[in-house]
Amino acid sequence: MQTLTKPNVAAVKVGLSLVIPCYNEGKSLPFLKERLLTSLPDLNLSWEVILVDDGSLDDTFDQLSAMNMADARFKVISFSRNFGHQIAVCAGLSHATGDYVAVMDADLQDPPEFLATCLDRLREGYDVVYAIRRQRKENIFKRFCYASFYRLLKFIAEVEIPLDSGDFCLMRQRVVAVMRTMPERNVFVRGLRAWSGFRQTGIEYSRASRSAGETKYPFRKLLRLAMDGMFAFSAFPLRLATYLGFVILALSLGGMMFILLWRIFNFQLFSHYPSEVPGWTSMVCLLLFIGGIQFLILGVIGEFIGRIYNEVKQRPRWIIRTTLGLEDTSFKQV
Ligand code: UDP
Ligand code: MG
Repeated sequence: MQTLTKPNVAAVKVGLSLVIPCYNEGKSLPFLKERLLTSLPDLNLSWEVILVDDGSLDDTFDQLSAMNMADARFKVISFSRNFGHQIAVCAGLSHATGDYVAVMDADLQDPPEFLATCLDRLREGYDVVYAIRRQRKENIFKRFCYASFYRLLKFIAEVEIPLDSGDFCLMRQRVVAVMRTMPERNVFVRGLRAWSGFRQTGIEYSRASRSAGETKYPFRKLLRLAMDGMFAFSAFPLRLATYLGFVILALSLGGMMFILLWRIFNFQLFSHYPSEVPGWTSMVCLLLFIGGIQFLILGVIGEFIGRIYNEVKQRPRWIIRTTLGLEDTSFKQV
């Protein structure tokens, strides 16, 4: 992933870094700029906005460079092509130097004024304050998909991923530092954020509708995001084969017993006797047995693949919140 950082960026310590992925957001950028310039000063922090142009095909990049020219606090990363929303967020996070780091969308569905509320909460001693969508202004089908996805994910995920929380959040730099150590290719940012631990809390907000332009998340992309979330935070889909294997093997053994008993006692069932067709009993027994065993072994293979997958992800194995008189080795793990 290539990133392009402006050479005129001075290494000054900033209070807040705001990461905003932008993909073909030409129509929303003027609104965004205006809203940011009116709302960010209320935070009483020095700030920078890291705008990640995710390979836009419209005039997004030109507008972003104009914003940077006019005000150097708007910083730009431009991708060579569309890498996807989640990767854009990651690239932004990896450049975010602020004590506090926020992530938000370019279309103003997440109100920047809400960051002030998040900041108050964060200062109460939290490390992550994420926004929970109270209501969505989207069509009923999309709302149904979102609702079922988050509930399914909560049921199967191995870390607690809060219901209905998106990427809109405010975090302390140390959480972002943890997220930077996760070199995953299929990223699910809100999952990584939850995975990193620390003290997290959510605040409800109502999600506005898009300021301008169309959604950049067609159903296909949403589905892929949902899959990334599920496969990166749960081995349940793999384990399904094992569970299924056990169930099928148990049913097969039951079936075999029945068929053997039927053959031995040779009673009439469905107006047939098992002795009518020679070899039928042994054939069915074999079939059931092999079917059951196959499922079980597939499950076992699945378990191993799951573990290999977990290893190749190379996430650090532990994260230290703080140390006294010792070096923090969280980021030196191999
Ligand atoms: N986005 C991106 N790359 C993509 C798709 C979307 O950077 O491939 C950005 C987009 O510009 C916006 C955010 O991700 O800032 C969320 O996208 P969008 O608002 O279209 O999604 P929705 O809110 O409809 O789910
Ligand atoms: Mg949106």
